[in-house]
Amino acid sequence: MSKDRGPASARPRIDVTRRSLLIGAGGAAVSPAAAARRGKSNKGRRVVVIGAGVFGAWTAHHLLKRGANVTLVDAFGPANSKASSGGESRVTRAAYGKDEIYTRMAADSLPQWQALSAVSGLPILIAAGVLFFFPNEQEYLTQSVAAHKAMGLPSELLDRREMQRRFPMIDFTGAALGLFEPGFGALMARRSVQTLVDRFVRDGGSYRQGLVEMLPAGAAAGRLDAIRLSDGETIGGDQFVFALGPWLPKLFPDVIGEKILPTRQEVFFFAPPAGDRSFEAGPMPVWADFNNGDFFYGFPDLEARGVKFAHDEHGVKVDPDTQDRRPTAAALAEVVAYRDRRFPRLKGATLTEARVCQYENSSNGDFIIDFHPTMSNVLLVGGGSGHGFKHGPEVGRYAVDQLLGTAASEPRFSLASKSAVHHREVH
Ligand SMILES: Cc1cc2nc3c(=O)[nH]c(=O)nc-3n(C[C@H](O)[C@H](O)[C@H](O)COP(=O)(O)OP(=O)(O)OC[C@H]3O[C@@H](n4cnc5c(N)ncnc54)[C@H](O)[C@@H]3O)c2cc1C
Repeated sequence: MSKDRGPASARPRIDVTRRSLLIGAGGAAVSPAAAARRGKSNKGRRVVVIGAGVFGAWTAHHLLKRGANVTLVDAFGPANSKASSGGESRVTRAAYGKDEIYTRMAADSLPQWQALSAVSGLPILIAAGVLFFFPNEQEYLTQSVAAHKAMGLPSELLDRREMQRRFPMIDFTGAALGLFEPGFGALMARRSVQTLVDRFVRDGGSYRQGLVEMLPAGAAAGRLDAIRLSDGETIGGDQFVFALGPWLPKLFPDVIGEKILPTRQEVFFFAPPAGDRSFEAGPMPVWADFNNGDFFYGFPDLEARGVKFAHDEHGVKVDPDTQDRRPTAAALAEVVAYRDRRFPRLKGATLTEARVCQYENSSNGDFIIDFHPTMSNVLLVGGGSGHGFKHGPEVGRYAVDQLLGTAASEPRFSLASKSAVHHREVH
């Protein structure tokens, strides 16, 4: 990428300054250690980023742009099939109820996705709009509307009749209200991370495929000097970022442990009726149904892969290395029953694809972007918790500010704010 923000004309009207995220209410003062890090020049600073998912790739990108010498390492490849970033598509939306911090991050990330999309051969952001619909007026909706208003985001509040008129492929029976966000929509997940890593390498970053083994004994005392790959190579650095998604608890069992819980997610794609273009992006939005707390969401037919459905659950604990990636008949039956009720024209549609992935849930749904408690040059980045993808650009920028000591830390991203008891609070 040659620049961080797309042309103003290509962006929706979003009036959010990038600094507002970091200097917002509750931001802690810059620590003395951070002040010391800030004092150093970035030229010649060697930073190793381990994990080329969406968080690691954007962190590496922003580091490079700020003058560091960056090596990005991944065991299986950027946005590989086992990684949480490895799916086809992810929702980007700004509706977050009370959690305005994520509304700001999504809004600040959007122009960065637009800029990446502009230099990628195939589209990365498909701005079909996002429709959240609700059985009644509820706090999440009113708080989201208030946040949108305060930030000047171009959202629309729709009643059932209007939703039915605009989106006839969905049966809105039992839904009373909807929030439509133009300008947001679908991110092509795997493509975007692979494009970003490709740009990173072309811009002078290095990428190395390799498995980082357990940290050297004694590394926990003070600082880390080098990582060791399974083929025996060591890579030295001044600072290290571990953006390992659902693998973070595996490499850091003492520090992360149960603070991140990987859980199983299944997604399904169905062929739309032949010749019917109403299920394409544009006529059809990206959508989420606040079905009395039983949350389903989906995508239009992107690039002819099929119309995608998922039941958002954060339940069955899995291991990202060993979980069975075959879809279950029970999950398929649940999605088909939902599909037939809400999307009657898809009744009987052929299952074209299914994928099994995992969320890497932090205990409360907030990200973890914090220094290792004993290794002062190691930053841990993760806990995307089923909603992290869209925020990749701003997570990367925030992580780099922490490494360089150029912004205050956000208490919600701290290790101290997470526990082994899981109570998801961010939706
Ligand atoms: C089905 C599904 C749907 C989702 N939907 C949405 C959505 O609609 N919107 C949204 O915003 N978010 C969504 N998310 C969440 C989002 O995709 C994740 O939070 C995000 O992709 C996490 O990225 P990451 O970089 O932290 O982890 P990952 O993408 O998992 O990357 C971690 C990387 O670390 C590497 N690694 C691990 N261990 C080692 C090691 N020892 N040595 C070297 N490399 C290693 C792995 O190979 C991997 O590539 C969804 C997630 C899933 C699974």
